[in-house]
Amino acid sequence: MECKSSENKKDCNCSYPCNKKGFCCECIIYHRKRGELPACYFSEEAEKTYDRSIEKFIRLYNKN
Ligand code: SF4
Repeated sequence: MECKSSENKKDCNCSYPCNKKGFCCECIIYHRKRGELPACYFSEEAEKTYDRSIEKFIRLYNKN
């Protein structure tokens, strides 16, 4: 299967300068190992804090 990184980049909301942008398989492995979720699980505003912890995601999710 061909990597669709350029297509993925169009949907990526991550504002952090990172070489995994568009490489979703690497991105999720990186964050999962740290007990985190990728930027695309967060709103534009929340993503910019770079706190990608599962705890933060749950806090935000329970507010809505
Ligand atoms: S979510 Fe994390 S790994 Fe993915 S592109 Fe952004 S900073 Fe990189």
